Amino acid sequence: MTPCTDQVIGDILSSWRYDISGISPEMRTDFEQHFVECQHCRSRQRLHRTVDVTLIGLATLSTLAFLLAQQQDAQHRQRRDEDSESADVHGEVRKAEAFRESADAHWQKIGHRE
Ligand SMILES: [Zn+2]
Repeated sequence: MTPCTDQVIGDILSSWRYDISGISPEMRTDFEQHFVECQHCRSRQRLHRTVDVTLIGLATLSTLAFLLAQQQDAQHRQRRDEDSESADVHGEVRKAEAFRESADAHWQKIGHRE
């Protein structure tokens, strides 16, 4: 790799991660000129941009994966809630039937007595 043609400017650029979009246009001209002259910094800038884009892409992907996993988890939890609710209803129905049977038995006993 070719060394930087101006180490001072090269160091400044490196501390900015070769991103000069945040500085004022008058100042930017010098650094833009350096990018034209210096192959080292130009390739570093391209590398950093690629890394940035890759990181943004990965962050977006992991966010999507997280949201998807959360959504699936919520769906699973909802389904489990519905299952336990219907189990509760079955339990109530059985209790009511048992009560009616014992009530019938009482009535029969009373009927026998008469
Ligand atoms: Zn340079």
